[in-house]
Amino acid sequence: MNTDKALSFPSPAHWIDGRAVPFDGPLIEVVNPATGDVVAAVPDGTAADVDRAVEAASAAFPGWAATDPAERAAVVRRVGAGLKERGGEIAAAMTAEMGAARSLTDTLAIALPPMAVDSLADVAESFAWTEEIANSLIVREPVGVVAAIVPWNFPIQQIVTKVVPALLAGNSVVLKPAELAPLAARIFAEVTSDAGLPAGVFNVVHGTGQVVGEALAAHPRVDMVSFTGSTRAGRRVSAVASETVKRVALELGGKSANIILPDADLKAAVTGGLAVAWANNGQVCGAYSRMLVPAALHDEVVALLREAAAEYTVGDPADESVRLGPLASEAQRQRVTAYIERGIADGATLVLGGPGRPEGLTGGAYVRPTIFADVDPRSAIAQEEIFGPVLAVIPYTDDDHAVEIANGTIYGLTGAVFGEEEHALAIARRMRTGQVDINGARFNPFAPFGGYKQSGNGREYGRQGLEEFLETKAIQR
Ligand code: NAD
Repeated sequence: MNTDKALSFPSPAHWIDGRAVPFDGPLIEVVNPATGDVVAAVPDGTAADVDRAVEAASAAFPGWAATDPAERAAVVRRVGAGLKERGGEIAAAMTAEMGAARSLTDTLAIALPPMAVDSLADVAESFAWTEEIANSLIVREPVGVVAAIVPWNFPIQQIVTKVVPALLAGNSVVLKPAELAPLAARIFAEVTSDAGLPAGVFNVVHGTGQVVGEALAAHPRVDMVSFTGSTRAGRRVSAVASETVKRVALELGGKSANIILPDADLKAAVTGGLAVAWANNGQVCGAYSRMLVPAALHDEVVALLREAAAEYTVGDPADESVRLGPLASEAQRQRVTAYIERGIADGATLVLGGPGRPEGLTGGAYVRPTIFADVDPRSAIAQEEIFGPVLAVIPYTDDDHAVEIANGTIYGLTGAVFGEEEHALAIARRMRTGQVDINGARFNPFAPFGGYKQSGNGREYGRQGLEEFLETKAIQR
């Protein structure tokens, strides 16, 4: 049963200078991709709205920048506690706006955000804000007004990983949420206010990337843009921001490789690899969308994949037994379907799935989780980010060949290696990516996350995630 009708979301408003600012202009509708129902709406904001928010952020900046870092961390910890308290609402919003299943919202909306907030506060509390180098005093200071532009795939988590370190560093922030999944931003704003964050330090302007996103990137009083999204939009943000030479941190797309070595525990490698490939229906920047396997083990891997894939039930995300809901929008469904058709047309072997909705589902943005085998590493489904549950199995001959294929895309975000540990480590060191997980190692919130090549130039999480939002001043005496 779908529970949207029982949910209610606030009327359309930006959040500027510590309060909701009602909006009577055109709206952007928020659509539940499982049902096609409109569940809420947010303002289709303008450049004038951006001006108002930037003004509030500029006015609030000096006071917050001068606040003791320990006091900033204390406020942020209260934000973490508030997110924990409102986790159920955040999860319901995520399901309503992007069709996320319960198994995913339990982690991404409820457990992870407060944990990430606390880890970032830990970093700020032990951070060396000043340092002496000979006769120089090195001082770390906030950059100023930060524009945070986020995608829809992990709505609250993307807000946390940008806004929280920016605040800990002493910046003020204007957030532009994604049009598809904007509902967590309001809850986050209310939580910051309840936590005692001074008015104007955190602001939200809703709207499209072309209007609100570009107005923020171009704004002369915005000192930094921290952007997470597609490589295509990241290029545009960089170009627009370059006119005012503001700092730009980019967290972009990926086409991550999971290299399975001949000495791997095959079942663990296949099951663990598929779990990351299809997490959030493949709508994850670091999804292991390519599985690189020794040619001699290719057929064995495909058989194991068939078995593992049987666990991935697709259906109404409100049904707790379902593992994968719909994709986040009808546009995503069409895009992913086009890639599945392209894979077939390009001659890859279709092992599972294919175009069209899963059996029994006649409406909604559902796709069939799909596996292609014997994929040519130069083909579109092996090169381009699909952002859906589509896995490409690619055979390789030896270590050098595996590394060459893994590094052979424009992306360099994450990757995985399964195999004997020293062997796997040697391969991991040759991968041109910002993160590599060996044998399914667990997530570490203190480790920096970010991309090489066209996956971006920024780092989130940990000490590097805080430093991203700091200037460095040297005072000689
Ligand atoms: P998107 O690029 O379409 O949009 C991301 C955000 O940018 C949205 O808020 C959008 O409104 C805004 N935007 C779009 N065009 C803009 C422009 N010209 N100027 C300013 N802002 C603009 O991406 P999406 O579809 O929301 O998200 C999926 C993409 O995000 C994937 O490519 C995924 O890999 C990437 N992503 C990367 C990471 C990471 O950490 N590297 C994390 C999550 C998602």
